[in-house]
Amino acid sequence: MRIETDIKLDFKDVLIRPKRSTLPSRKNVDISREFDFRWSKKRFFGVPIVAANMDGVGTMEMAEAFVEEGHGLTVALHKHYAPEAQIDFLRKHGGSPVWYSIGIADEDVRKLDAVLDSPLQKEGTGIDKLCIDVANGYSEQFVEFVKRTRDRVPEMTIMAGNVVTGEMVEELILAGADVVKVGIGPGSVCTTRKMTGVGYPQLSAIIECADAAHGLGGLVCSDGGCVVPGDLAKAFGAGADFVMLGGMLAGHDQGGGQVIEEDGERCVQFYGMSSATAMDKHAGGVAEYRASEGKTVPVPYRGDVTGTVREILGGIRSACTYIGARRLKELSKRTTFVRVTEQLNNVFGKDRTSA
Ligand code: 5GP
Repeated sequence: MRIETDIKLDFKDVLIRPKRSTLPSRKNVDISREFDFRWSKKRFFGVPIVAANMDGVGTMEMAEAFVEEGHGLTVALHKHYAPEAQIDFLRKHGGSPVWYSIGIADEDVRKLDAVLDSPLQKEGTGIDKLCIDVANGYSEQFVEFVKRTRDRVPEMTIMAGNVVTGEMVEELILAGADVVKVGIGPGSVCTTRKMTGVGYPQLSAIIECADAAHGLGGLVCSDGGCVVPGDLAKAFGAGADFVMLGGMLAGHDQGGGQVIEEDGERCVQFYGMSSATAMDKHAGGVAEYRASEGKTVPVPYRGDVTGTVREILGGIRSACTYIGARRLKELSKRTTFVRVTEQLNNVFGKDRTSA
């Protein structure tokens, strides 16, 4: 047994220190990014925020709303669309608004085969981004799967995760990932930290993983734990290239959930993808060998997602103004974090919805 005593930080443990700035207004801030992916050699241009591949968030309607807004946000589609629905979507919008999510089970490979075999793929209007997503990205099988997939689809941009430490980020990038997804336990409907005691404070995970990824020409996507726009500013400030959002985008019309009344409030049920709710819906119940590591919570119904997106983007733009970053790219270079909490109070994020 070993104990690591270095301080590890979460979003709520820090604030961003303001800096002298010559920017007249947040209107002058450009929050899109341009990336050339290490392996696929494809170029990304847009606001690097990704809707999580969860029911109620990673939907085609969400992707359509993002296309309409025109900022270039993307959606990791949840895994439960039939291949025909994916193909219909691709026919209408092409692949650029979405990441096609798969796990590493045989069934996932079959679904990927079906989409890759579609004529759209040959015409160049099919999927161009994959999100290979497992709860625990530390297994050898996962790394092997990423390698095999990279060999199979060399031109496809691959995001893979989740992990929280630099050495595993390096391994996944060398295996073929363009972007590594970072986050174990911070999700708003995740109970991994409580159920297993495993996790890593998200801000430190981003700082350490981004450093490892950037050293190899790879990128990271911070996944989970953002509850307010300022958390996204902190994630980008810490070095995240992309930020994935679940809870902050839940409760909207585009999620397709049923609106219910709870204590006089209009709500939508939002649940983790390994919660009992999700497993009942998609897998006919919780498998005996595994405990559910997600929960179901009511979130306030918030109507159209457009207003929420504008608020999030406004918050990030404003953060850039406070520290004199003309472009999102400059945010991390100009960020100085100030610690504002004592470490011991924060393990389970008392005043937050996470774990
Ligand atoms: P949020 O933005 O809501 O804080 O976090 C979203 C992330 O939580 C997702 O992208 C995913 O990585 C993670 N997540 C979603 N469902 C579950 C679940 O049931 N269990 C766990 N451990 N994590 C989940």
